[in-house]
Amino acid sequence: MDWKNLPSSGGGVQDRRGGGGLPGGGIAVGGIGGLVIALIAMFFGVDPSVILGGGSQTAPTQQSQTQAQTPASDESYQFVDRILGSTNQVWTGIFKQSGRTYTKPTLVLFTGGTTSGCGNADSSVGPFYCPLDNKVYLDTSFFATMQKRLGGGGDFAFAYVIAHEVGHHVQNELGIADQVERAQRQARSEAESNRYSVALELQADCFAGVWGNKVRGTEAANLTDADITQALNTAAAIGDDALQRQGQGYVVPDSFTHGSSQQRVTWFKRGFTSGDPSQCDTFKAS
Ligand SMILES: [Zn+2]
Repeated sequence: MDWKNLPSSGGGVQDRRGGGGLPGGGIAVGGIGGLVIALIAMFFGVDPSVILGGGSQTAPTQQSQTQAQTPASDESYQFVDRILGSTNQVWTGIFKQSGRTYTKPTLVLFTGGTTSGCGNADSSVGPFYCPLDNKVYLDTSFFATMQKRLGGGGDFAFAYVIAHEVGHHVQNELGIADQVERAQRQARSEAESNRYSVALELQADCFAGVWGNKVRGTEAANLTDADITQALNTAAAIGDDALQRQGQGYVVPDSFTHGSSQQRVTWFKRGFTSGDPSQCDTFKAS
């Protein structure tokens, strides 16, 4: 993938790195396997108690010395800026086609910890979308964790993570997130409420696939089959069943909030092959 040719977000990335927090290797040094898996799960919004089996392990909290200010021209910054810029381009185009205006999200790059409209986020919260301030929050150390622990490395796989979070922003823009929240408040059981969460997450995967489809169509991105395989492997590695199996050794489908590996791959593929967000009605499908 040649991400360097993708359009810049034009100031859409807010760089809050270098403000202290956990050192880069802090998570790995912690050495608790289950914790690392839980951290990864949390990046995608899974309730960590599901992964940790209700355990009481806590994330390391010591703060490192304030790190040197990272220049905004470094590779990580450039990468997220180009991927965000690319999602802006794709979703602006799609919204325009249906007479809507796409409001671009901001992406906050941080290390250690930061504040968000949805509360304080430390390194264990990682990539997430806050619908209250329309911002995607991304701790770049997540990429290293993903590569090391899940074999989910590769630029396109990382881009998929960003595109998934942007997918939640698209849901917010379309009012889907609100509808789901309302439905969840009326849900009669946790299992029913979880089904809405799964549908919401799978739709974000499908939207990430839609973005992938549009990017594949541009020569600039130079997307290869190997890139696509990487993204699919990542989607499979972060399915709830895969994470639960690694975290607790067994699978509890009712507690799924993101969907199984198979479901995540299926929905990403559906978006990727169609390039059509109307194919992403995961609510109807479930
Ligand atoms: Zn998500």
